[in-house]
Amino acid sequence: MKCPHGGTFSKGELKRFGNIELNPSAGVLNYGQGLFEGLKAYRKEDGNILLFRPEENALRLQMGAERMCMPSPTVDQFVESIKDTVLANKRWVPPTGKGSLYIRPLLMGSGPVLGLAPAPEYTFLIYVSPVGNYFKEGLAPINLIIENELHRATPGGTGSVKTIGNYAAVLKAQSVAKAKGYSDVLYLDCVHKKYLEEVSSCNIFVVKGNNISTPAIKGTILPGITRKSIIDVARSQGFQVEERLVSVDELLDADEVFCTGTAVVVSPVGSVTYLGNRVSYGEGIGAVSQQLYSVLTRLQMGITEDVMNWTVELR
Ligand code: PMP
Repeated sequence: MKCPHGGTFSKGELKRFGNIELNPSAGVLNYGQGLFEGLKAYRKEDGNILLFRPEENALRLQMGAERMCMPSPTVDQFVESIKDTVLANKRWVPPTGKGSLYIRPLLMGSGPVLGLAPAPEYTFLIYVSPVGNYFKEGLAPINLIIENELHRATPGGTGSVKTIGNYAAVLKAQSVAKAKGYSDVLYLDCVHKKYLEEVSSCNIFVVKGNNISTPAIKGTILPGITRKSIIDVARSQGFQVEERLVSVDELLDADEVFCTGTAVVVSPVGSVTYLGNRVSYGEGIGAVSQQLYSVLTRLQMGITEDVMNWTVELR
């Protein structure tokens, strides 16, 4: 799908996966005008395919486009093009319980621009790939390290939108952490260096007794769709859930910690390392993480009734 700046997107076409051509002075290559989304299609036991809350991705893309001075597809255009792409790639959706089809929509400034300005033309495209677990640990607990120097997002920046530059900003800390054997990095707020923000590609939750807390969305954290869904699932399961400032001290004193995201689903955290000290939360997956993981994934795969009305069935 293509669109001039300030215009609307025209209907796109399905193409075989392959290289795309870009002008060397395309806005995305020079000034980072790029946004992406991530969602999954799951196969039900009857063979039909379910999408999980695709309108939420459409709305988040629109919010990001506004911040990045880009036009965006309408919610209908977004959802319909996701459906068309998934249906055309139906055979790549793994059987129930064996993974999912990851869907990657990209919105970029594809028109040429030399002086700093929004690009004159935009391209929206979608590609897909079958995926299994995001972390090599699978559902086994992951080990995080808290980053104290490098920040993912700053107040007034672009941390709350899914723009490509945010991911470039975490590559260094993530690579260093992985080389030391950690699964990923947990970022702190850059003003007080004391409150939790999020992990490189997922949101974080802290469990203490019947209370579950997660950092509030305040401009530097991505409003995760899994985060939003888990908050609702946890409340429906009788937990007290709070969105607020969560300090490192609370994290270190938690009963259980877990991450959420489309790719990671619900990933238990086994340990957190902060200023050289490692705090462990136990060996296996915690009871709360397990419960929330089961409720969410069974709903996403159509194993239990979708009482939340979150799934979209493709036929
Ligand atoms: N935070 C970041 C930085 C992410 O990249 C993601 C993945 N999109 C998330 C959180 C989780 O968001 P979602 O649940 O919508 O996948």
